[in-house]
Amino acid sequence: MTCYQQSEVVLLALESVKYQILHYGQGQKFQLIAADDASTDGSQELIRAWAAENQALFARITLLFREKNGGICRNYVDALRAVEGERFVKVDGDDLLSSMTVKNVKTGELTVVEADEEDGLFGLFGFIGYNPNSKLFEGMLEMENGYIRTDDNMHTNIPGVFAAGDIRVKSLRQVVTAAADGAIAAMQAEHYISNH
Ligand SMILES: Cc1cc2nc3c(=O)[nH]c(=O)nc-3n(C[C@H](O)[C@H](O)[C@H](O)COP(=O)(O)OP(=O)(O)OC[C@H]3O[C@@H](n4cnc5c(N)ncnc54)[C@H](O)[C@@H]3O)c2cc1C
Repeated sequence: MTCYQQSEVVLLALESVKYQILHYGQGQKFQLIAADDASTDGSQELIRAWAAENQALFARITLLFREKNGGICRNYVDALRAVEGERFVKVDGDDLLSSMTVKNVKTGELTVVEADEEDGLFGLFGFIGYNPNSKLFEGMLEMENGYIRTDDNMHTNIPGVFAAGDIRVKSLRQVVTAAADGAIAAMQAEHYISNH
């Protein structure tokens, strides 16, 4: 966060950061960087007090308070240099995201991804991994790396039990294949019930 003479709003910005961490940041580590460009209106004192009160939210807090005004560019660059994130260097925006800078961890190269020029929209999806939620069926249904084994008609190893969608062993996990699996499984289930 960069700041210059913003004592009226700086706490609102910090409270917004807090809200987002508490609501959406569980289990993640955050670094707070507050770069103030020699404010004389008490901004620095407000930031310092807020940071002390909320230090438990952050893995690291970096307060860069200039004694002499250096201009927004210098202040911003100082803040960027203090970033210690591995992949995301920064995500910009004011309530809505507008851009992000991603670091290639192998080459160190930085890439800026901007919001769409026409509608200004920008989205960021967190990738949470592939672990299938299949523990419930462990020891009952045949599995491979946590995915349920079926034949082409969605039959599992237990007659009358069918599996469809991402939970089963397959090469492509997409909506279209999940829906197709579901249709096949439903038909097969209907056959099974009719015949038993
Ligand atoms: C970020 C992301 C982006 C994607 N983008 C695309 C895309 O652009 N195009 C595309 O085709 N596919 C995309 N996919 C893949 C697509 O979402 C899945 O292939 C599809 O949703 C699989 O459908 P499903 O019904 O098998 O499983 P899911 O949609 O995962 O549904 C399983 C449901 O079961 C519920 N559940 C889990 N455990 C239990 C339990 N014990 N009891 C009761 N309910 C339970 C879950 O809450 C969930 O609602 C994307 C997936 C992700 C994560």
